[in-house]
Amino acid sequence: MADETAERTAGRDFIRDIVRADLEQGRHRSVITRFPPEPNGYLHIGHAKSICLNFGIAEEFGGHCNLRMDDTNPTKEEQAYIDAIKADVAWLGFSWGPHFHHASDYFEQLFEWAVLLIKAGKAYVDDQSQEEMRLARGTLTEPGRNSPFRNRSVDENLDLFQRMRAGEFPNGARVLRAKIDMASGNINLRDPVLYRILHAEHPRTGKAWCIYPSYDYAHGQSDAIEGVTHSICTLEFEDHRPLYDWFIENLPVPARPRQYEFARLNLTHTILSKRVLTELVRGGHVAGWDDPRMPTIAGLRRRGVPPAAIRDFVKRVGVAKANSVVEYGMLEFSVREALNRSTQRRMAVLRPLKVVIENYPEGQVEELDAVNHPDDPDAGSRKVSFSRELWVERDDFMENPPKKFFRLSPGREVRLRYGYFITCREVVKDASGEVVELRCTYDPATRGGNAPDGRKVQATLHWVSAATAVSAEVRLYEHLFANPEPDAADFADQINPRSLELIADARLEPALAADNAHEPVQFERLGYFCRDPDSRPGRLVFNRTVGLRDTWAKVSRAGSGR
Ligand code: ATP
Ligand code: MG
Repeated sequence: MADETAERTAGRDFIRDIVRADLEQGRHRSVITRFPPEPNGYLHIGHAKSICLNFGIAEEFGGHCNLRMDDTNPTKEEQAYIDAIKADVAWLGFSWGPHFHHASDYFEQLFEWAVLLIKAGKAYVDDQSQEEMRLARGTLTEPGRNSPFRNRSVDENLDLFQRMRAGEFPNGARVLRAKIDMASGNINLRDPVLYRILHAEHPRTGKAWCIYPSYDYAHGQSDAIEGVTHSICTLEFEDHRPLYDWFIENLPVPARPRQYEFARLNLTHTILSKRVLTELVRGGHVAGWDDPRMPTIAGLRRRGVPPAAIRDFVKRVGVAKANSVVEYGMLEFSVREALNRSTQRRMAVLRPLKVVIENYPEGQVEELDAVNHPDDPDAGSRKVSFSRELWVERDDFMENPPKKFFRLSPGREVRLRYGYFITCREVVKDASGEVVELRCTYDPATRGGNAPDGRKVQATLHWVSAATAVSAEVRLYEHLFANPEPDAADFADQINPRSLELIADARLEPALAADNAHEPVQFERLGYFCRDPDSRPGRLVFNRTVGLRDTWAKVSRAGSGR
């Protein structure tokens, strides 16, 4: 597809410029990148940025991207997360081919290299408690203090490190540290921890290990083992780069990857932290990792967001060196763009109000042509049945309309989409005064939506035939957080109470109940919707992916909140 090719050609940004120059100047024969998630949660839209960047660059420059599980902390990691991560990366449209790896594949090699550092006098076993180490680390303005164990002999260090591995000591009793410089201006170089004792079973290595490498130690060496050329990460790791390079310089690694940092994705109304997202799930504040309000890939997918929209969004955001916050509306823009092109149109009435057309013969049914896509004749058309009793949207009627309300009201004529002009003649109310039915008449000469005498109407309404409509639950979503405070202690308190609105009994065109109707659709005049996996025979559930217009921006600008 032309679209797809254009989407997948190399754009320009500072990282792609570096890659291009490295290839042109022969510093690398081909590019190898990696996406290294820790399998302790589901991926979110921030990760999608990193995925699109790493897999995108590999694809555009003819290299490959490794998918590597950064599985160095067995207390937090689970196989279920690994499965979910793979499903999400694949769904986003990227392929790692044979390049699926685990940091745990390298545990033995990492251990051997740690032994080399000890032998070279560049690592030592420290018996201080975590608290003592923290106090001795110093601050940004004060240097740290050397550990009393820093000058242990190589032999004693080797012995203790072997015994750490053999399981002789309890959790936290000792660590292995690099011997670099406790007075360094960069705190990451103040004798960072390489190994800690953790008596925990690992999902892959089982009970083989009771010491586990730190992120800083495992990460760069895993890159080197895999021959990664460009190790692309987010800006928080800029200060870790000197340590990344120190390991590479001091170990006999088979390759010399270089680390480059880019700005992480931040989105308004959204928290992109696995810790917080985990709390929301564990605390039952959302319906799971794939709750359609979650910024996870799984949540966005269930919400009906197509992968092309996420790729388009990431492309529009671009790759920069300075952190910023992107408007959520920008993501919605990409979602609307993608869905407007790809979805068929259907009619659905969310809050039904009965219309009875008094001069339409009882029992008569007409099959009217309805186009599936206004800009795509190839999408064809379908039949919708018109009859004496219909449902229209409650919001499309006002008994005492203000000046600019052109939809139904007593005496007013409107067009029913694909159907006839109707005029409201009488309003029927129940005992409490609520409007329960509109008695209308139709003009048989207006079939197809135009009057032969040329008279105009100001509004076209969607509708469904009462006799054939199917009932459905519809879930409308707003931001999970209206205005999250990034430093809040308890995010659950800040959940937008209106983030989920349940509509128990919407009425839909019967085609939407077909077994194979799983594609996202546009409900005319309402937005983009998709069938939720909660649907069961006899109980349809639809999610609103996004409305047709950016109503949030308008409402919040008006200062009225939501
Ligand atoms: P946490 O949110 O708990 O700090 P994490 O998001 O860093 O964890 P990882 O699994 O380590 O979790 O992330 C994998 C990769 O995704 C890392 O290379 C990281 O830099 C990148 N990444 C994470 N969040 C974002 C983001 N918001 N924007 C861009 N890239 C991100
Ligand atoms: Mg991380």
